[in-house]
Amino acid sequence: MEIRVDLLDPDEQSGWHRLLPALTLPAIVTNRPKWEGGNSEASESDRLSILVDAVRRGVSHVDVELKALPTFVEMCRADNISFPLDGTKLIVSHHDFEKPLSVGHISDLIETMRRAGANICKIAMMAHSAMDNFIVMRTLARFNRNCIIIPMGDFGQVSRIAAGKFGAYLTFASVSSGSESAPGQVDVSTLVELYRFRSVTNKTALYGVIGDPVSHSMSPAVHNVAMKLSNIDALYVPLRVNKDYAQFVREAIRYGFCGFSVTIPAKLEVMSAMDVLDDVASRIGAINSVVQLEGGQLKGYNTDWLAAISAIEEKFPDGLTDKRVICVGAGGAGRALVFGAIARGAQHVVVVNRSVEKAQALAEEIGEQASALSLDAFNEGFQEKYDVLMNTTSVGMVPNVDDSPVKAERLEKGTVVFDAIYNPLQTRLLREAEEKGCIPVSGLEMFMGQAAVQLRYWFPEVEPPVDAMREAVLHRLGQSSRRK
Ligand code: NAP
Repeated sequence: MEIRVDLLDPDEQSGWHRLLPALTLPAIVTNRPKWEGGNSEASESDRLSILVDAVRRGVSHVDVELKALPTFVEMCRADNISFPLDGTKLIVSHHDFEKPLSVGHISDLIETMRRAGANICKIAMMAHSAMDNFIVMRTLARFNRNCIIIPMGDFGQVSRIAAGKFGAYLTFASVSSGSESAPGQVDVSTLVELYRFRSVTNKTALYGVIGDPVSHSMSPAVHNVAMKLSNIDALYVPLRVNKDYAQFVREAIRYGFCGFSVTIPAKLEVMSAMDVLDDVASRIGAINSVVQLEGGQLKGYNTDWLAAISAIEEKFPDGLTDKRVICVGAGGAGRALVFGAIARGAQHVVVVNRSVEKAQALAEEIGEQASALSLDAFNEGFQEKYDVLMNTTSVGMVPNVDDSPVKAERLEKGTVVFDAIYNPLQTRLLREAEEKGCIPVSGLEMFMGQAAVQLRYWFPEVEPPVDAMREAVLHRLGQSSRRK
Protein backbone atom coordinates (compact mmCIF):
# COMPACT_ATOMS: atom_id res chain seq x y z
CA MET A 1 0.00 0.00 0.00
CA GLU A 2 1.55 3.28 -1.07
CA ILE A 3 0.99 6.24 1.26
CA ARG A 4 1.22 9.36 -0.89
CA VAL A 5 1.87 11.86 1.89
CA ASP A 6 1.88 14.75 -0.63
CA LEU A 7 -1.72 13.93 -1.58
CA LEU A 8 -2.99 14.10 2.02
CA ASP A 9 -4.58 17.27 3.36
CA PRO A 10 -1.60 19.61 4.20
CA ASP A 11 -2.70 19.77 7.87
CA GLU A 12 -2.58 15.99 8.08
CA GLN A 13 0.74 15.38 6.38
CA SER A 14 2.89 15.48 9.51
CA GLY A 15 0.57 12.90 11.10
CA TRP A 16 0.84 10.51 8.11
CA HIS A 17 2.11 7.72 10.39
CA ARG A 18 -1.31 7.47 12.05
CA LEU A 19 -2.32 5.50 8.95
CA LEU A 20 0.23 2.74 9.68
CA PRO A 21 -1.70 0.71 12.29
CA ALA A 22 -4.65 0.35 9.90
CA LEU A 23 -2.50 -1.07 7.08
CA THR A 24 -2.71 -4.77 6.45
CA LEU A 25 0.00 -4.61 3.76
CA PRO A 26 3.63 -3.44 3.76
CA ALA A 27 3.83 0.34 3.21
CA ILE A 28 5.64 2.39 0.59
CA VAL A 29 5.94 5.97 1.80
CA THR A 30 6.17 8.63 -0.90
CA ASN A 31 6.14 12.42 -0.56
CA ARG A 32 6.40 13.61 -4.13
CA PRO A 33 7.45 17.27 -4.71
CA LYS A 34 5.79 19.55 -7.26
CA TRP A 35 9.03 19.59 -9.27
CA GLU A 36 8.67 15.85 -9.92
CA GLY A 37 4.93 15.85 -10.71
CA GLY A 38 3.71 15.47 -7.10
CA ASN A 39 1.80 17.80 -4.79
CA SER A 40 4.26 18.74 -2.03
CA GLU A 41 5.33 22.38 -1.89
CA ALA A 42 7.17 21.99 1.42
CA SER A 43 10.86 22.83 1.67
CA GLU A 44 13.16 19.95 0.74
CA SER A 45 14.22 19.43 4.34
CA ASP A 46 10.60 19.36 5.61
CA ARG A 47 9.52 17.08 2.77
CA LEU A 48 12.40 14.63 3.10
CA SER A 49 12.20 14.60 6.91
CA ILE A 50 8.91 12.71 6.51
CA LEU A 51 10.77 9.99 4.59
CA VAL A 52 13.53 9.91 7.22
CA ASP A 53 10.78 9.54 9.84
CA ALA A 54 9.30 6.68 7.77
CA VAL A 55 12.68 4.88 7.80
CA ARG A 56 12.90 5.35 11.58
CA ARG A 57 9.48 3.77 11.93
CA GLY A 58 10.70 0.78 9.93
CA VAL A 59 8.29 1.01 6.98
CA SER A 60 8.82 -1.53 4.26
CA HIS A 61 9.77 0.94 1.44
CA VAL A 62 10.44 4.65 0.94
CA ASP A 63 10.42 6.32 -2.48
CA VAL A 64 13.03 9.06 -2.98
CA GLU A 65 13.51 11.00 -6.23
CA LEU A 66 16.94 10.53 -7.80
CA LYS A 67 17.57 14.28 -7.73
CA ALA A 68 16.79 14.43 -3.99
CA LEU A 69 18.83 11.38 -3.04
CA PRO A 70 22.06 13.18 -1.94
CA THR A 71 20.09 15.40 0.47
CA PHE A 72 18.11 12.41 1.76
CA VAL A 73 21.33 10.44 2.41
CA GLU A 74 22.85 13.40 4.26
CA MET A 75 19.71 13.78 6.40
CA CYS A 76 19.72 10.05 7.24
CA ARG A 77 23.36 10.17 8.32
CA ALA A 78 22.76 13.33 10.38
CA ASP A 79 19.97 11.40 12.11
CA ASN A 80 22.31 8.43 12.81
CA ILE A 81 20.54 6.22 10.28
CA SER A 82 23.09 4.10 8.45
CA PHE A 83 23.13 4.20 4.66
CA PRO A 84 22.56 1.88 2.74
CA LEU A 85 19.35 1.59 4.75
CA ASP A 86 18.88 -1.34 7.03
CA GLY A 87 15.38 -2.87 7.02
CA THR A 88 13.66 -0.33 4.77
CA LYS A 89 14.00 -0.82 1.01
CA LEU A 90 14.95 2.28 -0.93
CA ILE A 91 13.04 2.97 -4.16
CA VAL A 92 14.86 5.63 -6.16
CA SER A 93 12.58 7.20 -8.76
CA HIS A 94 12.61 9.39 -11.82
CA HIS A 95 9.49 10.73 -13.57
CA ASP A 96 8.96 12.33 -16.95
CA PHE A 97 5.34 13.41 -17.42
CA GLU A 98 6.02 14.76 -20.90
CA LYS A 99 7.62 12.08 -23.04
CA PRO A 100 8.88 8.50 -23.31
CA LEU A 101 12.57 7.83 -22.58
CA SER A 102 14.87 5.72 -24.74
CA VAL A 103 16.28 2.34 -23.64
CA GLY A 104 19.71 3.99 -23.41
CA HIS A 105 18.45 6.82 -21.19
CA ILE A 106 16.58 4.45 -18.88
CA SER A 107 19.60 2.15 -18.66
CA ASP A 108 21.85 5.09 -17.65
CA LEU A 109 19.31 6.14 -15.01
CA ILE A 110 19.13 2.62 -13.56
CA GLU A 111 22.90 2.32 -13.38
CA THR A 112 23.16 5.72 -11.67
CA MET A 113 20.40 4.78 -9.22
CA ARG A 114 22.04 1.46 -8.37
CA ARG A 115 25.43 3.08 -7.81
CA ALA A 116 23.75 5.57 -5.49
CA GLY A 117 22.33 2.78 -3.32
CA ALA A 118 18.88 2.07 -4.77
CA ASN A 119 17.36 -1.28 -3.86
CA ILE A 120 14.63 -0.73 -6.45
CA CYS A 121 14.77 1.60 -9.44
CA LYS A 122 11.55 3.24 -10.58
CA ILE A 123 11.17 5.11 -13.85
CA ALA A 124 7.80 6.53 -14.92
CA MET A 125 7.54 8.15 -18.34
CA MET A 126 4.69 9.37 -20.52
CA ALA A 127 3.86 6.94 -23.34
CA HIS A 128 3.10 8.59 -26.68
CA SER A 129 2.31 5.41 -28.56
CA ALA A 130 1.75 1.70 -27.98
CA MET A 131 5.30 1.07 -29.24
CA ASP A 132 6.65 2.67 -26.05
CA ASN A 133 5.67 -0.49 -24.17
CA PHE A 134 8.49 -2.30 -25.96
CA ILE A 135 11.01 0.14 -24.43
CA VAL A 136 9.76 -1.04 -21.04
CA MET A 137 9.80 -4.73 -21.95
CA ARG A 138 13.31 -4.50 -23.41
CA THR A 139 14.70 -2.63 -20.40
CA LEU A 140 13.06 -4.90 -17.84
CA ALA A 141 14.44 -7.95 -19.64
CA ARG A 142 17.93 -6.41 -19.55
CA PHE A 143 17.99 -5.36 -15.88
CA ASN A 144 16.07 -8.23 -14.39
CA ARG A 145 13.91 -7.75 -11.28
CA ASN A 146 14.10 -4.87 -8.81
CA CYS A 147 13.00 -2.37 -11.45
CA ILE A 148 9.67 -0.64 -11.96
CA ILE A 149 9.31 0.97 -15.38
CA ILE A 150 5.96 2.52 -16.13
CA PRO A 151 4.72 4.04 -19.38
CA MET A 152 1.98 6.40 -18.15
CA GLY A 153 -1.29 7.02 -19.99
CA ASP A 154 -3.66 4.74 -21.94
CA PHE A 155 -1.00 3.65 -24.40
CA GLY A 156 1.05 2.10 -21.60
CA GLN A 157 -1.70 0.29 -19.75
CA VAL A 158 -0.55 -3.16 -20.89
CA SER A 159 2.80 -2.68 -19.11
CA ARG A 160 0.94 -2.00 -15.88
CA ILE A 161 -1.52 -4.91 -16.25
CA ALA A 162 1.06 -7.46 -17.43
CA ALA A 163 3.90 -6.17 -15.18
CA GLY A 164 4.30 -9.70 -13.75
CA LYS A 165 4.96 -11.11 -17.21
CA PHE A 166 7.78 -8.67 -17.92
CA GLY A 167 9.46 -9.04 -14.52
CA ALA A 168 8.62 -5.68 -12.94
CA TYR A 169 9.13 -5.48 -9.16
CA LEU A 170 5.56 -4.21 -8.71
CA THR A 171 2.80 -2.32 -10.46
CA PHE A 172 0.69 0.58 -9.20
CA ALA A 173 -3.11 0.36 -9.13
CA SER A 174 -5.68 2.83 -7.83
CA VAL A 175 -7.79 1.96 -4.78
CA SER A 176 -10.90 2.52 -6.88
CA SER A 177 -11.82 3.70 -10.33
CA GLY A 178 -11.61 7.51 -10.39
CA SER A 179 -8.94 7.78 -7.67
CA GLU A 180 -5.89 7.22 -9.87
CA SER A 181 -2.67 8.88 -8.70
CA ALA A 182 -1.15 8.72 -12.21
CA PRO A 183 -2.62 8.47 -15.72
CA GLY A 184 -3.30 4.96 -17.01
CA GLN A 185 -3.67 3.23 -13.64
CA VAL A 186 -6.20 0.41 -13.43
CA ASP A 187 -8.16 -0.03 -10.19
CA VAL A 188 -7.00 -2.81 -7.93
CA SER A 189 -10.12 -4.99 -8.09
CA THR A 190 -10.08 -4.95 -11.91
CA LEU A 191 -6.39 -5.79 -11.84
CA VAL A 192 -6.82 -8.70 -9.47
CA GLU A 193 -10.21 -10.07 -10.57
CA LEU A 194 -10.40 -9.40 -14.30
CA TYR A 195 -6.68 -9.51 -15.11
CA ARG A 196 -5.72 -12.15 -12.48
CA PHE A 197 -2.62 -10.13 -11.60
CA ARG A 198 -1.46 -12.53 -8.88
CA SER A 199 -1.25 -15.50 -11.22
CA VAL A 200 0.59 -13.80 -14.11
CA THR A 201 4.19 -14.97 -14.47
CA ASN A 202 6.85 -14.83 -17.17
CA LYS A 203 5.31 -18.03 -18.58
CA THR A 204 1.85 -16.50 -19.07
CA ALA A 205 0.88 -16.20 -22.75
CA LEU A 206 -0.45 -12.80 -23.80
CA TYR A 207 -3.40 -12.00 -26.04
CA GLY A 208 -5.10 -8.66 -26.60
CA VAL A 209 -7.44 -6.47 -28.57
CA ILE A 210 -5.80 -3.91 -30.86
CA GLY A 211 -7.64 -0.73 -31.85
CA ASP A 212 -8.56 2.77 -30.78
CA PRO A 213 -10.60 3.20 -28.67
CA VAL A 214 -10.44 -0.08 -26.75
CA SER A 215 -11.24 1.09 -23.24
CA HIS A 216 -14.92 0.09 -23.58
CA SER A 217 -14.28 -3.19 -25.39
CA MET A 218 -16.12 -6.17 -23.90
CA SER A 219 -13.46 -8.54 -25.27
CA PRO A 220 -11.18 -8.49 -22.16
CA ALA A 221 -14.14 -9.47 -19.95
CA VAL A 222 -15.17 -12.31 -22.25
CA HIS A 223 -11.75 -13.75 -23.06
CA ASN A 224 -10.31 -13.50 -19.55
CA VAL A 225 -13.29 -15.33 -18.09
CA ALA A 226 -12.88 -18.05 -20.73
CA MET A 227 -9.11 -18.35 -20.10
CA LYS A 228 -9.64 -18.53 -16.35
CA LEU A 229 -12.39 -21.17 -16.49
CA SER A 230 -10.45 -23.23 -19.03
CA ASN A 231 -7.33 -23.17 -16.80
CA ILE A 232 -5.24 -21.62 -19.56
CA ASP A 233 -2.16 -19.72 -18.37
CA ALA A 234 -2.94 -16.70 -20.56
CA LEU A 235 -3.93 -13.07 -20.09
CA TYR A 236 -6.00 -10.90 -22.47
CA VAL A 237 -5.40 -7.14 -22.38
CA PRO A 238 -6.73 -3.99 -24.10
CA LEU A 239 -4.06 -2.57 -26.44
CA ARG A 240 -4.69 1.02 -27.47
CA VAL A 241 -2.85 1.26 -30.78
CA ASN A 242 -3.50 4.21 -33.10
CA LYS A 243 -0.78 3.83 -35.76
CA ASP A 244 1.90 1.43 -37.02
CA TYR A 245 -0.48 -1.48 -36.41
CA ALA A 246 1.45 -4.05 -38.40
CA GLN A 247 4.77 -3.08 -36.80
CA PHE A 248 3.14 -3.29 -33.35
CA VAL A 249 1.90 -6.82 -34.03
CA ARG A 250 5.28 -8.06 -35.27
CA GLU A 251 7.10 -6.56 -32.30
CA ALA A 252 4.53 -7.74 -29.73
CA ILE A 253 4.93 -11.34 -30.89
CA ARG A 254 8.62 -11.11 -29.90
CA TYR A 255 7.59 -10.14 -26.34
CA GLY A 256 5.26 -13.03 -25.62
CA PHE A 257 2.02 -12.14 -27.41
CA CYS A 258 0.46 -15.15 -29.14
CA GLY A 259 -2.70 -13.75 -30.75
CA PHE A 260 -4.88 -10.69 -31.16
CA SER A 261 -8.41 -9.53 -31.71
CA VAL A 262 -8.52 -6.53 -34.01
CA THR A 263 -11.07 -3.75 -33.94
CA ILE A 264 -11.66 -0.34 -35.56
CA PRO A 265 -9.59 1.29 -37.07
CA ALA A 266 -6.94 -1.44 -37.37
CA LYS A 267 -8.82 -4.18 -39.26
CA LEU A 268 -7.29 -3.35 -42.64
CA GLU A 269 -3.76 -2.27 -41.81
CA VAL A 270 -2.96 -5.20 -39.53
CA MET A 271 -3.34 -7.45 -42.59
CA SER A 272 0.10 -6.45 -43.84
CA ALA A 273 1.70 -8.14 -40.80
CA MET A 274 0.14 -11.51 -41.75
CA ASP A 275 2.11 -14.32 -43.37
CA VAL A 276 -1.10 -16.09 -44.37
CA LEU A 277 -4.68 -14.88 -44.85
CA ASP A 278 -7.81 -16.94 -44.59
CA ASP A 279 -9.62 -16.99 -47.98
CA VAL A 280 -12.81 -15.23 -46.91
CA ALA A 281 -10.85 -12.67 -44.86
CA SER A 282 -8.79 -11.84 -47.90
CA ARG A 283 -11.95 -11.39 -50.03
CA ILE A 284 -13.54 -9.22 -47.32
CA GLY A 285 -10.33 -7.20 -47.09
CA ALA A 286 -10.36 -6.97 -43.28
CA ILE A 287 -9.38 -9.22 -40.35
CA ASN A 288 -10.50 -9.25 -36.75
CA SER A 289 -8.36 -12.15 -35.48
CA VAL A 290 -4.63 -12.90 -35.56
CA VAL A 291 -3.54 -16.45 -34.85
CA GLN A 292 0.04 -17.67 -34.44
CA LEU A 293 0.47 -20.95 -36.31
CA GLU A 294 2.74 -23.72 -35.07
CA GLY A 295 5.79 -22.65 -37.07
CA GLY A 296 5.38 -19.09 -35.75
CA GLN A 297 3.67 -17.71 -38.88
CA LEU A 298 0.78 -15.29 -38.36
CA LYS A 299 -2.58 -16.00 -39.96
CA GLY A 300 -5.39 -13.48 -40.23
CA TYR A 301 -9.07 -14.46 -40.04
CA ASN A 302 -12.35 -12.62 -40.07
CA THR A 303 -14.59 -14.29 -37.49
CA ASP A 304 -17.18 -11.47 -37.53
CA TRP A 305 -19.02 -12.82 -40.56
CA LEU A 306 -18.94 -16.47 -39.52
CA ALA A 307 -20.49 -15.78 -36.14
CA ALA A 308 -23.29 -13.59 -37.50
CA ILE A 309 -24.04 -15.77 -40.51
CA SER A 310 -24.07 -18.96 -38.39
CA ALA A 311 -26.60 -17.37 -36.02
CA ILE A 312 -28.80 -16.47 -39.01
CA GLU A 313 -28.35 -19.88 -40.69
CA GLU A 314 -29.64 -21.61 -37.56
CA LYS A 315 -33.06 -20.14 -38.28
CA PHE A 316 -33.41 -22.05 -41.59
CA PRO A 317 -33.38 -25.83 -42.08
CA ASP A 318 -31.03 -25.55 -45.07
CA GLY A 319 -29.05 -22.49 -44.00
CA LEU A 320 -28.66 -19.55 -46.35
CA THR A 321 -28.67 -21.59 -49.56
CA ASP A 322 -30.76 -19.77 -52.20
CA LYS A 323 -31.93 -17.10 -49.75
CA ARG A 324 -32.46 -13.48 -50.72
CA VAL A 325 -30.69 -11.14 -48.29
CA ILE A 326 -30.88 -7.40 -47.58
CA CYS A 327 -27.77 -5.94 -45.95
CA VAL A 328 -28.29 -2.46 -44.53
CA GLY A 329 -24.87 -0.81 -44.17
CA ALA A 330 -21.71 -1.09 -46.25
CA GLY A 331 -18.99 -0.38 -43.69
CA GLY A 332 -16.62 -2.96 -42.16
CA ALA A 333 -19.33 -5.16 -40.67
CA GLY A 334 -21.49 -4.79 -43.79
CA ARG A 335 -18.64 -5.94 -46.07
CA ALA A 336 -17.94 -8.95 -43.84
CA LEU A 337 -21.59 -10.03 -43.75
CA VAL A 338 -22.21 -9.53 -47.48
CA PHE A 339 -19.18 -11.66 -48.40
CA GLY A 340 -20.13 -14.17 -45.69
CA ALA A 341 -23.71 -14.52 -46.96
CA ILE A 342 -22.47 -15.14 -50.50
CA ALA A 343 -19.84 -17.62 -49.23
CA ARG A 344 -22.67 -19.54 -47.51
CA GLY A 345 -24.77 -19.85 -50.64
CA ALA A 346 -27.13 -16.85 -50.57
CA GLN A 347 -28.81 -16.38 -53.95
CA HIS A 348 -28.71 -12.56 -53.96
CA VAL A 349 -27.76 -9.71 -51.62
CA VAL A 350 -29.16 -6.19 -51.91
CA VAL A 351 -26.66 -3.81 -50.33
CA VAL A 352 -28.53 -0.83 -48.87
CA ASN A 353 -26.55 2.14 -47.62
CA ARG A 354 -26.97 5.80 -46.74
CA SER A 355 -24.14 6.68 -49.15
CA VAL A 356 -25.27 4.72 -52.17
CA GLU A 357 -21.89 4.86 -53.89
CA LYS A 358 -20.40 2.67 -51.13
CA ALA A 359 -23.21 0.17 -51.61
CA GLN A 360 -22.58 0.21 -55.37
CA ALA A 361 -18.85 -0.35 -54.97
CA LEU A 362 -19.46 -3.33 -52.68
CA ALA A 363 -22.13 -4.82 -54.95
CA GLU A 364 -19.78 -4.48 -57.93
CA GLU A 365 -17.08 -6.40 -56.08
CA ILE A 366 -19.52 -9.25 -55.55
CA GLY A 367 -20.77 -9.26 -59.13
CA GLU A 368 -24.14 -10.38 -60.45
CA GLN A 369 -25.27 -11.88 -57.13
CA ALA A 370 -25.51 -8.40 -55.57
CA SER A 371 -27.22 -5.09 -56.29
CA ALA A 372 -27.22 -1.70 -54.55
CA LEU A 373 -29.86 0.71 -53.26
CA SER A 374 -29.82 3.87 -51.19
CA LEU A 375 -31.26 3.66 -47.68
CA ASP A 376 -33.86 6.32 -48.55
CA ALA A 377 -35.01 4.42 -51.64
CA PHE A 378 -35.29 1.22 -49.61
CA ASN A 379 -37.31 2.86 -46.85
CA GLU A 380 -39.56 4.68 -49.29
CA GLY A 381 -40.86 1.70 -51.14
CA PHE A 382 -38.79 -1.46 -51.54
CA GLN A 383 -41.31 -4.12 -52.57
CA GLU A 384 -39.31 -7.23 -53.46
CA LYS A 385 -39.50 -10.39 -51.38
CA TYR A 386 -36.54 -11.29 -49.15
CA ASP A 387 -35.72 -13.89 -46.51
CA VAL A 388 -33.15 -12.11 -44.33
CA LEU A 389 -32.57 -8.47 -43.36
CA MET A 390 -29.28 -7.63 -41.62
CA ASN A 391 -28.55 -4.24 -40.05
CA THR A 392 -24.84 -3.47 -39.99
CA THR A 393 -25.13 0.29 -39.40
CA SER A 394 -24.69 1.85 -35.98
CA VAL A 395 -28.20 3.34 -36.11
CA GLY A 396 -30.08 2.39 -32.91
CA MET A 397 -26.99 1.91 -30.75
CA VAL A 398 -26.78 3.59 -27.33
CA PRO A 399 -27.41 6.43 -26.75
CA ASN A 400 -29.69 6.69 -29.83
CA VAL A 401 -31.89 3.76 -28.84
CA ASP A 402 -35.08 5.28 -30.33
CA ASP A 403 -33.65 5.20 -33.87
CA SER A 404 -33.96 2.45 -36.43
CA PRO A 405 -32.34 2.39 -39.87
CA VAL A 406 -35.36 0.58 -41.37
CA LYS A 407 -38.99 1.75 -41.48
CA ALA A 408 -41.31 -0.77 -39.81
CA GLU A 409 -43.38 -1.03 -43.07
CA ARG A 410 -40.39 -2.64 -44.77
CA LEU A 411 -40.33 -5.55 -42.31
CA GLU A 412 -42.01 -8.76 -43.54
CA LYS A 413 -43.61 -11.40 -41.33
CA GLY A 414 -41.62 -14.65 -41.26
CA THR A 415 -38.29 -13.12 -42.35
CA VAL A 416 -35.16 -13.31 -40.21
CA VAL A 417 -34.04 -9.88 -38.94
CA PHE A 418 -30.49 -9.58 -37.61
CA ASP A 419 -29.03 -6.50 -35.90
CA ALA A 420 -25.22 -6.28 -35.46
CA ILE A 421 -25.72 -3.89 -32.53
CA TYR A 422 -25.66 -5.53 -29.06
CA ASN A 423 -25.92 -2.45 -26.89
CA PRO A 424 -28.88 -2.31 -26.30
CA LEU A 425 -29.59 -6.01 -26.55
CA GLN A 426 -33.02 -5.31 -28.01
CA THR A 427 -32.78 -2.48 -30.51
CA ARG A 428 -35.81 -0.67 -31.86
CA LEU A 429 -35.35 -2.60 -35.12
CA LEU A 430 -35.49 -5.97 -33.32
CA ARG A 431 -38.47 -4.88 -31.22
CA GLU A 432 -40.44 -3.81 -34.30
CA ALA A 433 -39.37 -6.98 -36.13
CA GLU A 434 -40.78 -9.09 -33.30
CA GLU A 435 -44.03 -7.10 -33.35
CA LYS A 436 -44.31 -7.80 -37.10
CA GLY A 437 -43.86 -11.55 -36.62
CA CYS A 438 -40.25 -11.67 -37.89
CA ILE A 439 -37.59 -13.91 -36.34
CA PRO A 440 -35.09 -11.65 -34.49
CA VAL A 441 -31.36 -12.42 -34.11
CA SER A 442 -29.38 -10.20 -31.72
CA GLY A 443 -25.88 -8.78 -32.27
CA LEU A 444 -24.89 -10.48 -29.01
CA GLU A 445 -24.86 -13.75 -30.97
CA MET A 446 -22.36 -12.21 -33.39
CA PHE A 447 -20.17 -10.85 -30.61
CA MET A 448 -20.24 -14.09 -28.63
CA GLY A 449 -19.77 -16.19 -31.73
CA GLN A 450 -16.75 -14.25 -33.01
CA ALA A 451 -15.14 -14.47 -29.55
CA ALA A 452 -15.79 -18.24 -29.33
CA VAL A 453 -14.35 -18.82 -32.82
CA GLN A 454 -11.27 -16.77 -31.91
CA LEU A 455 -10.76 -18.86 -28.79
CA ARG A 456 -11.01 -22.07 -30.82
CA TYR A 457 -8.36 -20.78 -33.23
CA TRP A 458 -6.04 -19.85 -30.36
CA PHE A 459 -6.70 -22.94 -28.21
CA PRO A 460 -7.99 -25.76 -30.45
CA GLU A 461 -8.10 -28.18 -27.51
CA VAL A 462 -10.48 -25.98 -25.47
CA GLU A 463 -14.27 -25.83 -25.72
CA PRO A 464 -15.16 -22.15 -25.06
CA PRO A 465 -17.31 -21.78 -21.90
CA VAL A 466 -19.94 -19.80 -23.81
CA ASP A 467 -22.46 -19.52 -20.96
CA ALA A 468 -19.89 -17.87 -18.67
CA MET A 469 -18.67 -15.66 -21.52
CA ARG A 470 -22.25 -14.54 -22.22
CA GLU A 471 -22.75 -13.85 -18.50
CA ALA A 472 -19.63 -11.65 -18.51
CA VAL A 473 -21.00 -9.53 -21.37
CA LEU A 474 -24.47 -9.30 -19.86
CA HIS A 475 -22.92 -8.25 -16.57
CA ARG A 476 -20.91 -5.51 -18.31
CA LEU A 477 -23.95 -4.36 -20.30
CA GLY A 478 -25.98 -4.29 -17.08
CA GLN A 479 -23.29 -2.19 -15.46
CA SER A 480 -23.10 0.23 -18.36
CA SER A 481 -26.86 0.69 -18.49
CA ARG A 482 -26.94 1.27 -14.71
CA ARG A 483 -24.28 3.99 -15.11
CA LYS A 484 -26.53 5.83 -17.55
P1 NAP B 1 -18.32 1.40 -40.08
O1 NAP B 1 -17.34 0.69 -40.93
O2 NAP B 1 -18.01 2.76 -39.58
O3 NAP B 1 -19.70 1.50 -40.92
C1 NAP B 1 -20.81 2.21 -40.43
C2 NAP B 1 -22.03 1.96 -41.31
O4 NAP B 1 -23.15 2.59 -40.68
C3 NAP B 1 -21.91 2.60 -42.71
O5 NAP B 1 -22.62 1.80 -43.63
C4 NAP B 1 -22.61 3.96 -42.51
O6 NAP B 1 -23.16 4.50 -43.69
C5 NAP B 1 -23.74 3.55 -41.59
N1 NAP B 1 -24.26 4.68 -40.82
C6 NAP B 1 -23.64 5.32 -39.80
N2 NAP B 1 -24.44 6.30 -39.33
C7 NAP B 1 -25.59 6.27 -40.07
C8 NAP B 1 -26.79 7.02 -40.04
N3 NAP B 1 -26.98 8.00 -39.16
N4 NAP B 1 -27.75 6.71 -40.93
C9 NAP B 1 -27.58 5.70 -41.82
N5 NAP B 1 -26.47 4.94 -41.89
C10 NAP B 1 -25.47 5.23 -41.02
O7 NAP B 1 -18.68 0.54 -38.79
P2 NAP B 1 -18.75 -1.07 -38.66
O8 NAP B 1 -17.47 -1.60 -38.15
O9 NAP B 1 -19.28 -1.65 -39.91
O10 NAP B 1 -19.80 -1.24 -37.47
C11 NAP B 1 -21.17 -0.97 -37.70
C12 NAP B 1 -21.99 -1.47 -36.53
O11 NAP B 1 -21.82 -2.87 -36.37
C13 NAP B 1 -21.62 -0.83 -35.20
O12 NAP B 1 -22.80 -0.54 -34.49
C14 NAP B 1 -20.83 -1.92 -34.50
O13 NAP B 1 -20.94 -1.81 -33.09
C15 NAP B 1 -21.52 -3.16 -35.02
N6 NAP B 1 -20.64 -4.33 -34.93
C16 NAP B 1 -21.02 -5.35 -34.12
C17 NAP B 1 -20.23 -6.47 -34.00
C18 NAP B 1 -20.68 -7.59 -33.09
O14 NAP B 1 -19.85 -8.42 -32.73
N7 NAP B 1 -21.95 -7.66 -32.76
C19 NAP B 1 -19.03 -6.59 -34.72
C20 NAP B 1 -18.67 -5.52 -35.58
C21 NAP B 1 -19.49 -4.40 -35.67
P3 NAP B 1 -22.29 5.49 -44.62
O15 NAP B 1 -21.40 4.60 -45.45
O16 NAP B 1 -23.29 6.23 -45.41
O17 NAP B 1 -21.50 6.38 -43.70
